[in-house]
Amino acid sequence: MAGQGVQAVGKFRELLEELLQEAEAAKPNGLIEPPLNKDDLGDISERVNSVFLPVTSPEVRKRSQYAVVETAARDTFNDLLATTTIDTPEFMKLWHLLDIISILSDDEQCDPALYFWLVEELLDSQTIAACRKVFDFLESRRDIITAKQFQSKQLVILRSCNELLRRLSRAEDTSFCGRVFIFLFQSFPLGDKSSVNLRGEFHTENTTVFDENASKGSDSQTMDVDTEMKVNGSMLKVPPKSIDRANGSAGSAKDVEPLTADKLYPIFWSLQQSFSQPKTLFEKEPFDRFKTGVEATRVMFQAVQNQSSSRPTRSPPSYDSKRGTKRKRGEGDDDLANAFNPKYLTSRDLFELEISDLSFRRHILVQVLIVVDFLLSLSAAAKEKLAKAEPANPNKSVMYEKQVLSEDDTKWAEATKSSVLDLLKLGLDGPHFHRMVESVIARDKNWVRWKIENCPPITKPAIAPEEYVSVKNDARKATTNKRLRLNPLGSLNLRFLTENNAEAGLERLKDPSRYQIPSVKSFKSKMELDDMDIEMAQDGSEEKSAAVESKASKSWRALRIASASKLVAFDKIERSDSIDEVFLDHVKVKEPVANTEEESAEVPIYPKDRRPIILAGPSGVGKSTLLKRLIAKYPKILKRKVSHTTRAPGAGEVDGKDYNFITKETHTIMRDGDQFLEYNCYNGNDYGTSRKLVESIIAENKVPLMEMEYHGIQQIKDNGFDARFIFIAPTNMAELERRLRSRGLQDDEEIKGRLKIAEDEIQQSAVEGSYDKIFINDDLDATYDILEDYIFNHTVQGEEQNGEVSEAQ
Ligand code: ADP
Ligand code: 5GP
Repeated sequence: MAGQGVQAVGKFRELLEELLQEAEAAKPNGLIEPPLNKDDLGDISERVNSVFLPVTSPEVRKRSQYAVVETAARDTFNDLLATTTIDTPEFMKLWHLLDIISILSDDEQCDPALYFWLVEELLDSQTIAACRKVFDFLESRRDIITAKQFQSKQLVILRSCNELLRRLSRAEDTSFCGRVFIFLFQSFPLGDKSSVNLRGEFHTENTTVFDENASKGSDSQTMDVDTEMKVNGSMLKVPPKSIDRANGSAGSAKDVEPLTADKLYPIFWSLQQSFSQPKTLFEKEPFDRFKTGVEATRVMFQAVQNQSSSRPTRSPPSYDSKRGTKRKRGEGDDDLANAFNPKYLTSRDLFELEISDLSFRRHILVQVLIVVDFLLSLSAAAKEKLAKAEPANPNKSVMYEKQVLSEDDTKWAEATKSSVLDLLKLGLDGPHFHRMVESVIARDKNWVRWKIENCPPITKPAIAPEEYVSVKNDARKATTNKRLRLNPLGSLNLRFLTENNAEAGLERLKDPSRYQIPSVKSFKSKMELDDMDIEMAQDGSEEKSAAVESKASKSWRALRIASASKLVAFDKIERSDSIDEVFLDHVKVKEPVANTEEESAEVPIYPKDRRPIILAGPSGVGKSTLLKRLIAKYPKILKRKVSHTTRAPGAGEVDGKDYNFITKETHTIMRDGDQFLEYNCYNGNDYGTSRKLVESIIAENKVPLMEMEYHGIQQIKDNGFDARFIFIAPTNMAELERRLRSRGLQDDEEIKGRLKIAEDEIQQSAVEGSYDKIFINDDLDATYDILEDYIFNHTVQGEEQNGEVSEAQ
């Protein structure tokens, strides 16, 4: 038996050699892509079968075949590994060998895990640089090698990836670590528990060491003097020493002086301990220290930020004119990725440099946000919300049932979160960075919730056809009226046709009252008769109620008929038993007159460029007025996207028409559920564009018209949403204020806030590439005309416009 086995291994090795030669012939170009195909290797199944003797039990045959294939494959693999190196063309043979094993594995000719056993050995035998190449190969084959029999492979995949991660330095091989993680996440099903930190353990070994007594050179003697830092070639001043604050409050950083760098240094670095062990904050003393530390850091960051933005050589931080908004996606990410080092250099000498670096500050602020969010999940409100959801089988280890954040601490955490988020908005690409962080944190809440619910399966099983049919029948039954009418609703009474004299019956079918809709007026006299009956009948008598019912039925029918042509009269009807208004002639509705070229035309004339149109511009400049005019004139072509907002309705504004007025809570639910195409907080209120609304307008074959401020525009541009961006500018600020007031706004603070934002918006509109077109809304009619002309006649390639149009530079 053993002899047979050895013989079979020899034979199989020969077969492998042949297959490798065929692979080389099939892919002579020496490129890794594409993977070998089963057809490249002749009748591989047949040839493998011929190596093994038929054995009675398929189980025995399978076991011995797997052992033989494994031994032969390992021998060939080891030979190749010993004789070639990864950067030589001969190494291609090893890639071929892996491809062949993958084909055999899919064909159930070898152990499904064999492929990854070999990969594990390969990774073990290579340097980190070479492991990158192995990973290039694995990534190129990921779909194929994980498609079948994943259960048998997952353990070894996890083991080899973890082993590799252990070898990698998180600091130097950050992106490679990321690739390994991504490989794992893409291979394992979403929600696989093997990748979940079910017990909510923190990475407590991650300690940051620093010199608690360090001070910088002569700084200790010149503590009251400004410290200067050199940043990007220009000098940045660390603000002078200030009074120590015992307990931080997240008030405006403008009111509070920052600490000196020497004083901040130990406070700042000791925050790292709380970041890596948030559970220590359950104790009062560490929590107080944490609050002081966060506060001092925030104040310093704000001061550094203010100084760097006010340096005259630079344009406003978020809108660096050189970069413009046409910055390619990823450029900034590269900057950040390069600047970020996960293990900190904590030397006191580097401290000023570090905190003057925007990406370093952002990194720390994000850490603060994560911990503050964790703390907020312990607030009474959050606990109450969770209790309402009542997860069936909760995972208590991530619930911290006994810890509840006090009311004061909750207020502090909320204020800190909001001011840290504001800080994140500042600096280069700030709004973009802020949005990204906010989205990630919002999504993370869903994952935490899922973990609390003990990771229920994410994929729902498909509904069985029988189940579908039975539910459909039940629904039909539930909605069907069981009481059968003598004449089904809406059909004529045809019983007279069964009467003896059939011909007379047929004659009666020709009676116009059977097929013509009666005139509204025909009900008038009949209802007057009913009125007489009602008056004459005794109160409470059967006659009286029959007459009332008869009148009600007639007035209902009269109203239904009138609704098609006299809807306007309905406004004037005050009582349901007096509908005389619909019988009057003077309330005839004016026939809609085709007053535009577009409406009278059979086929609507669409804009030459049918991309959605986005109007931006300061509040009060006239966007809604212009939009409403366009929609009124082109109802079949253009449709306004009604935004969602948490602000209160203004004078005359109608819910669902001017805005969808929603609560803050609904906004959060919509935002977390990814229902917004974009969203932003404007002057203290949230605004957002429902993805569904825009899709439905496009589905109606209409061009969406949208109003949006520039952060929202930035978001949709970042997401690759294609549209025409038009900026409506005011003639001057005084006129803008006048229009805001004319719109019904009275609150001076509110107006001041809007005018301040307007200044930023106008400044931003001057940045190259921000808008496709800018119009100054001086005279409304003239602006409308050029806007209409631009929307309908401007082609995608662009034609020069004449008139009062100022082209965006
Ligand atoms: P927005 O939608 O941009 O906030 P609105 O369309 O509500 O602005 O306009 C604000 C006010 O200004 C409204 O009272 C509107 O009638 C008025 N308005 C709009 N355009 C002009 C214009 N060109 N000249 C004078 N008033 C205008
Ligand atoms: P207002 O309160 O004056 O109606 O609107 C305030 C600002 O919000 C205006 O600049 C308006 O263009 C903008 N806005 C209206 N709807 C949306 C929206 O859906 N998304 C975004 N980002 N801004 C909007």
